[in-house]
Amino acid sequence: MNNFQTSPWQLDAAPESTDHIKIKDAYGLFINGEFVPSSGGETFDSINPATEQRLTTITESTVDDVDKAVIAASNAYKKVWSKTSPAARGKYLFRIARLIQERSKELAVVETIDGGKPIRESRDVDIPLVAAHFFYYAGWADKLSYAFPNRSIQPLGVAGQVIPWNFPLLMAAWKIAPALACGNTVVLKPAETTSVSAMILAEIIQQSELPPGVVNIVTGHGAVGEAIVNHPGVDKIAFTGSTVVGKEIRTSIAGSKKRCTLELGGKAANIVFADAPIDQAVEGIVNGIYFNQGHVCCAGSRLFVQESIREEVLKKLKHRMGTLRVGDPLDKNTDIGAINSKRQLDRIESWIELGREEGAELYQAGGELPDRGYWCRPSVFTEVAQSSRIAQEEIFGPVLAVQTFRTVAEVIKKANNTPYGLSAGIWTDKGSKIFNMTAQMRAGVVWANSYNQFDPVSPFGGYKESGFGREGGLHGLAAYLDVS
Ligand code: NAP
Ligand code: MG
Repeated sequence: MNNFQTSPWQLDAAPESTDHIKIKDAYGLFINGEFVPSSGGETFDSINPATEQRLTTITESTVDDVDKAVIAASNAYKKVWSKTSPAARGKYLFRIARLIQERSKELAVVETIDGGKPIRESRDVDIPLVAAHFFYYAGWADKLSYAFPNRSIQPLGVAGQVIPWNFPLLMAAWKIAPALACGNTVVLKPAETTSVSAMILAEIIQQSELPPGVVNIVTGHGAVGEAIVNHPGVDKIAFTGSTVVGKEIRTSIAGSKKRCTLELGGKAANIVFADAPIDQAVEGIVNGIYFNQGHVCCAGSRLFVQESIREEVLKKLKHRMGTLRVGDPLDKNTDIGAINSKRQLDRIESWIELGREEGAELYQAGGELPDRGYWCRPSVFTEVAQSSRIAQEEIFGPVLAVQTFRTVAEVIKKANNTPYGLSAGIWTDKGSKIFNMTAQMRAGVVWANSYNQFDPVSPFGGYKESGFGREGGLHGLAAYLDVS
């Protein structure tokens, strides 16, 4: 799966039609199996970042609404879900997975118009992975004792889950599917700019006849996430988002009995050795940083290229960047869609400005950008110092920082020299080099001669300020169980 490969038959394809997509004019909160208004009566608009047009109205939850959602989840846990057989739990998850597949076209379009990502990515990567996660954890529901042989296992109770805007439905799936498979109930908050697909998931959950209260979805701004985190009825916090907010959460639950997993930021090293297949590596560099506009926690945002091939790699990279199409996310030929929000675009632009001030050299691929919407050209900085902020801090946009190295020891040292430790990529012809290096890299995921490949079977998570705990695979189950 190379996210940037265009198929020949897609070249003349018309933009994806939105005629058949029926987004409601407004979405309430999903509490105890019903769509309900907020007790405060506040709402906000969700917009399409490619057109700046309003898509729908989303409800702002109050602390009282969060309380109602937690009570619903707690009652559902005690009265229904903890008494539902593991096989029946699996059946509900299988049903949800199948309904997601049935509505996959609609979900892909919604994900693209609400969040700005290219339709090719939402259709071929996000939504299939969403269904795959539900299928995968559905399968585990009645096999938990095999996952933890000779141990005693218990669900935790109510899981409070807060997710970001870069993979809205996929992050919801990563959170909800393992929680339910293990017998927990859920209160989830999607990110404020991308709540629509979560509300359609709420419709799907209703359609699946999952008992009321097992999944509750409350929308709104950061304060809603804070209310979930601080609610005494929540037994486990699962958070994906920025390191800053992750640290706040850790502080606020310190001393409580709440369990916690944090999936935070990253600044991954994508390392290309002189013996690598260069053209393939260039595709991997492009996919690593420009996939989903670089709004990827595990993005290969630092390129380390071995000194002897620097010129060749940069020449090929710049040429390839020139072929990337930035624009209408609904166009099947688009490679780079809209930046998710004005706020994020401003942040990225100020990082680009900072990179220049730090003395790095900027190259941006040309081409017209649409008049409306939030856009950023694929960008690369060369002459980047190891100590510079653009080499150390997360930009979360289509901006690559390039550095060079001579030896394996040097690149391992440089790659590990960041506060983060989420992912890395290694491009080389030598398998032994890959094995030797992966053992020394402080990165939760290391891709070898590939990048940004995801599978429900593989655990995902970080070291250091990238967080702790693992999602996905067998490891993802442990995060939702008391194992003794
Ligand atoms: P964020 O500001 O931390 O927001 C994440 C979520 O937390 C949103 O739903 C947000 O609500 C909510 N939130 C904000 N303040 C909160 C608080 N004080 N308490 C509880 N919840 C709060 O991050 P973001 O800008 O949306 O996402 C980008 C970051 O997420 C990047 O740093 C990226 O690396 C990280 N990320 C990590 C992973 C991973 O798996 N490791 C995956 C994806 C993204 P609002 O949306 O309303 O602000
Ligand atoms: Mg939106």
